[in-house]
Amino acid sequence: MTHPHPPETFGARLVETSLATERVRLMTFEREGGPFHFRAGQWVNFHFPLKDEKGHPLHRAYSIASAPGGTSRFELAITHVNAGPGSEFLHAMRPGEVLEARGPQGTFLRPLDAPAPALFVATGTGLAPFRAMVHDAIAAGRKERLWVLFGVRTPQDVLWEAELRALEKAHPFFRLEVTLSRPPPDWGGRRGHVQEHVRALWAELAALEPAPDAWICGVKKMLLEVRDVLRKELGLPRARVHAESYG
Ligand SMILES: Cc1cc2nc3c(=O)[nH]c(=O)nc-3n(C[C@H](O)[C@H](O)[C@H](O)COP(=O)(O)OP(=O)(O)OC[C@H]3O[C@@H](n4cnc5c(N)ncnc54)[C@H](O)[C@@H]3O)c2cc1C
Repeated sequence: MTHPHPPETFGARLVETSLATERVRLMTFEREGGPFHFRAGQWVNFHFPLKDEKGHPLHRAYSIASAPGGTSRFELAITHVNAGPGSEFLHAMRPGEVLEARGPQGTFLRPLDAPAPALFVATGTGLAPFRAMVHDAIAAGRKERLWVLFGVRTPQDVLWEAELRALEKAHPFFRLEVTLSRPPPDWGGRRGHVQEHVRALWAELAALEPAPDAWICGVKKMLLEVRDVLRKELGLPRARVHAESYG
């Protein structure tokens, strides 16, 4: 397995940006000065020209949503948090503007030499590292089952839906299961939170695959509840449950 690249500080120039949902902005940056080497699952830390509540420079972490491609570009998905200084700064950025970044960082990494099949559980922009991992696995020619359980409020909140549905058609080992916490009356899919669906989906995957891993990413409350189901109820060992908390 290749080792993660050491983090470095660089200028991240915003190349393009669009609103994917009411609250989530997709943002493509490029690293000034050359290619950005990272691994799927890693994140960058932005150093904002702002101070936090203690008067220290404001830093915030963002998972890279694109797979490594040897270029200077990387994509992020940013949830707008009301009165949140970091996310509001990012949502207000215009193409051409540059922000100081430090990365790549993090150890939320699937080994590429012998990765286990995976159940990825995400809410909101917690999907970002899993999008990177799925594209990375496909680019590496992997065929183990990769299933995503993705929780959002409404059908309009599903990120990268057309892209992920196309991947499902092209690669039967990939599956996207969406659950909505505020479904419209005519919604025929899963309802409620990811916590309510993880048992059944895990059982289905574990019946097909010898030893899948579970991966969880998103806000802390969801992450802890899903982890409790997997570890305490279903008895998965610690080493097979990977989690990245957005706080
Ligand atoms: C390793 C790591 C990776 C991260 N990756 C992403 C990412 O890819 N996209 C992203 O939008 N955020 C991500 N975050 C969260 C991000 O770092 C900030 O916490 C977030 O942007 C809020 O910062 P703020 O200054 O706007 O608001 P603050 O005033 O700092 O608000 C903090 C509040 O926002 C909540 N919050 C944080 N992130 C989210 C979120 N994504 N959705 C809903 N509520 C949230 C926290 O629970 C907390 O209550 C990541 C965090 C970590 C530690």
